[in-house]
Amino acid sequence: MLRLSLCVTVLCVTLSCSAHAETRYTTIVIDPGHGGFDRGGIPGQRVAEKVMTLDVSQRLKTILQNAGYRVVMTRDTDEFIPLGTRVAIANSQPNAIFICVHFNSATRRGANGIETYFYSTESAPLAASIHASVLGGAPSENRGVRRRGYFVLRRTNIPAVLVECGFLTNPNEAQYAENAAYRQKLAQNIARGILNRPAVASRTSYTNRSSRVDVGSQPFLDQRYVREASGRSGKSSHRRKIASATRKRKKTSVDD
Ligand SMILES: [Zn+2]
Repeated sequence: MLRLSLCVTVLCVTLSCSAHAETRYTTIVIDPGHGGFDRGGIPGQRVAEKVMTLDVSQRLKTILQNAGYRVVMTRDTDEFIPLGTRVAIANSQPNAIFICVHFNSATRRGANGIETYFYSTESAPLAASIHASVLGGAPSENRGVRRRGYFVLRRTNIPAVLVECGFLTNPNEAQYAENAAYRQKLAQNIARGILNRPAVASRTSYTNRSSRVDVGSQPFLDQRYVREASGRSGKSSHRRKIASATRKRKKTSVDD
């Protein structure tokens, strides 16, 4: 009897897993990075990250809506939305995936490239697909697909990906980003990565190695970073600086 009930349980679990795997998402939650007083990037950065992330996200919204998807934006104007609210919006949507749009920055002007992040295993194929598609249309280095516990990736319970669409501190990539046609291309390639997920995912690998770029002097609230960052990544000076900056800001912090 015990054995029979065990078999039934195993069968149910197997069936429910395979049914879950075949569930198609119908909603895309798009999360334009930063906004309002949180400009994104580093001090003195000429091109505001928050403007670029919103523009690409709105273009992505239009493309996905035209493809028949329901789209939810965590912000659709220049306003500050706390990380917890962004995560709550994502987690309240059934059959959804979560796409965070960011641009990178570094004190070293030469730093460039596209990188894409995920946290949960179920998000890895989606991250790989988006990365391959965005990279294919960008005049940029491949910085890889990386696993990292950013707040918005770790706290969401749906597939979640954060794409860094190039460095606004790099003269070439900033020039591209300022071009509306290029931002449209970025949005189209993110959308293509979402729509073609299974086919592309199997051809791309990822790494969880740390970035070589020093972004440690970034004092603004970068909503990707969290105080309770995972132990291993916390060893770098970059992480310590971020954690320290976040603690100093604790009383007025609105990021968690
Ligand atoms: Zn950002």
